[in-house]
Amino acid sequence: MTETAAKLLAWYDAHARDLPWRGIHDAYRTWVSETMLQQTRVDTVLSYYDRFLARFPDVSALAAAAEEDVLKMWEGLGYYRRARNLHRGAKQVMEEFGGEMPRTTEEIRRLHGVGDYTAGAIASIAYDLPVPAVDGNVIRVISRLKGIRENTGVPSVKRQITAEAAALVPEARPGDFNQALMDLGATVCVPGTPSCEKCPLCGMCDAYQEGDADELPVLPRREPPRPIDYDVCLIFSGGRVLMRQRTETMLQGLWVYPMFEEHREVDLLSEIIRRKLGLKAGEISFCADAKHVFTHQVWQMKLYTARVDKHAAAPAGWRFVTAEEMTSLTIPTAMKAAVKVVKEKL
Ligand code: SF4
Repeated sequence: MTETAAKLLAWYDAHARDLPWRGIHDAYRTWVSETMLQQTRVDTVLSYYDRFLARFPDVSALAAAAEEDVLKMWEGLGYYRRARNLHRGAKQVMEEFGGEMPRTTEEIRRLHGVGDYTAGAIASIAYDLPVPAVDGNVIRVISRLKGIRENTGVPSVKRQITAEAAALVPEARPGDFNQALMDLGATVCVPGTPSCEKCPLCGMCDAYQEGDADELPVLPRREPPRPIDYDVCLIFSGGRVLMRQRTETMLQGLWVYPMFEEHREVDLLSEIIRRKLGLKAGEISFCADAKHVFTHQVWQMKLYTARVDKHAAAPAGWRFVTAEEMTSLTIPTAMKAAVKVVKEKL
């Protein structure tokens, strides 16, 4: 074992965060936790992890579930593609692997939605295979530790970081080592200015010695999210409101209210509702502004309420739903302000 690995594991033994997915050798549970943790804070995942596993305790239970139920258990966690991939992956385990989670990194990597990072995390944590698991935290720690000062978005640089991480992973306790690196990145070697005085690796850290840790890693430039204006129309018919289940890739399978791109004057709304939905709407009024930031888009929404005849038929692909029915549908967080208005009105 390298000195770096030994020091890091000793630090981990003293400082490991006590998390429900730690200390288990269960590939399914590691898969669920690692999928939930992608782009999501640990605090947020804590409230979902136990509930999800209570509902889907093993891979066969998840595979047998309806997608609607899986999405419902994911509601509010965001990036719903992760839930759909997990569900498809569980079916794949049943069909291609006879119901047993695959045991090699290459086979794990074949599961839907599983990339190099998740495959490495499952293989090392659940099966003690000495392979790296390189996520954003690990990229940061390794860039600083090894003094990698090139753009980490470039494939060859990413490969170099992975190779450096792989060279450090010990044969003994590889899963703990990978989790220790993640923890170090999350709590000590944080973005911006790291807490080097608390770091077990400062004696061997290139960036610490050079004094440029706060400038590393060199990250690829991200395009800012594109703003899109929407008029969101909450169309009531008697004690029900109009909704549809999205078929678009983004937020696929989630339920939303009618949304029309661009903002327009109120009197033009009744025209677009007639044209797009075939409904004759009255009493249209503006009620609130709302905004939701996704990775690539910012939805700038104006919320309107409108009323149609209580006997009006829902257009094809749409449903009028009651407040009670709404509670069983998976509605994206982007619609949070709209849901609040609807609940007040129904
Ligand atoms: S010494 Fe500082 S920069 Fe280097 S790994 Fe530790 S916390 Fe990160």
